[in-house]
Amino acid sequence: MIVCKFGGSSVADAQQIRKVKQIVDADPQRQVVVVSAPGKRSKDDEKVTDMLYACNAMVQQGSSCKDLFKKVALRYTTILSDLGMQAKPFLPVLEEVRQMIDAGHGAEYAASRGEYLAARMVATFFGWEFLDTDPEIVINHDGTVNPETWNNLKRALKPKTKYVVPGFYGCDPEGKVKTFSRGGSDITGAILSSAAKADTYENWTDVSGVFSVDPRLVPEAKVIKQMTYREVRELAGVGAGVFHEEAIAPILASGITINVKNTNAPMDDGTFILPTREKGEHPLVGVSAKSGFSRLSLRKLMLFKKSGIRHALLTMLHIFGIRPTFSLFGVDSIIWFFETTQASDSVINAMCSRLKSEFELEEVSVDHGHAIVGIIGSGVMQDSSVIAKSTTALAEDKIALNFFNYGSSDTSILIGVNATQAQDAVKSLYRALF
Ligand code: ASP
Repeated sequence: MIVCKFGGSSVADAQQIRKVKQIVDADPQRQVVVVSAPGKRSKDDEKVTDMLYACNAMVQQGSSCKDLFKKVALRYTTILSDLGMQAKPFLPVLEEVRQMIDAGHGAEYAASRGEYLAARMVATFFGWEFLDTDPEIVINHDGTVNPETWNNLKRALKPKTKYVVPGFYGCDPEGKVKTFSRGGSDITGAILSSAAKADTYENWTDVSGVFSVDPRLVPEAKVIKQMTYREVRELAGVGAGVFHEEAIAPILASGITINVKNTNAPMDDGTFILPTREKGEHPLVGVSAKSGFSRLSLRKLMLFKKSGIRHALLTMLHIFGIRPTFSLFGVDSIIWFFETTQASDSVINAMCSRLKSEFELEEVSVDHGHAIVGIIGSGVMQDSSVIAKSTTALAEDKIALNFFNYGSSDTSILIGVNATQAQDAVKSLYRALF
């Protein structure tokens, strides 16, 4: 059996939803369909999820979201009438959602309603069961999936029944609606695939698979035919879109095949994501970059003589809400890279003075505007020419390196560059290595 997840562009309007129905009808194995909220219909359009976050923001500022919510409601009623369905029975559902947002149920509740309404609408159109993910999918406060979820879904999924399921949300252990991070319907699809013991998890989007490099940067970019779970996770971790980096965890143990496919070109093979892949002709799968990092640099003579110092410093960072993504250790120095959005300038300043005084550091500084570029592929450690080719290409293109991380994973090489040079670095590396 197959679990399908259709992204926001696949349910953006009636025409797209008709394509979804054709795809689903073409194979009786497709028994569970997870949907996102309607996305953009054109470049300048708005995503329903963004509008719902805006509705909640209005309520937080003390106004009613009534006017703005009309735009949300119109997206659904237009789709319903374009599908030849009655919009009327849906109006009380829309009104109830609006009232709940106005009553201050918060950002996660508001955002989740995009998927909730989409799934109810698609379920009616298909004549399938609607299965709500609240309260079946329990999401811990740190965003991980609570194991209770597996028993809940086992109980909820009846054999020989076809379901439409909303992506992106579940509830927290106390029963309050909780969302995953943005793009989180991919995680819901993975959870349903695992719970329903699917043979394949089809992830339907608006491109024909995962690209080896962002096609906006390199127009001749190719779709990756096969990649491993580790490779997709590492590629998504350095900013490649298409598949959510946290969607591998729920299916890791079951080894289900993921197939990323295009709703607008269903005959294309797409990308297959597997526990292991055939040793193709290329040891690498892709290059990508993620910006938005800050660098914290600490220095003190004989810093590491003090036992437990790393732990103590990390505890201090934690107190200020900083969770570093990458670390580098020198003889007397430590560098941590963290996502800039984790702390405001004033929090960073307060943390730096605390670090300086408490640990008697000679130097503490933070600078912004960093990017991490990843060269991903399970063959990076086997092919020693990858390092030589990469550094030569970057030097020729005058791209300065802030760090080079080789060996901490057998699936990636990570390179720190200034964010202003990140796109050039990706292009340069792609040209040199692919
Ligand atoms: N609708 C949500 C978002 O825009 C979740 C998703 O699309 O997967 O992030």
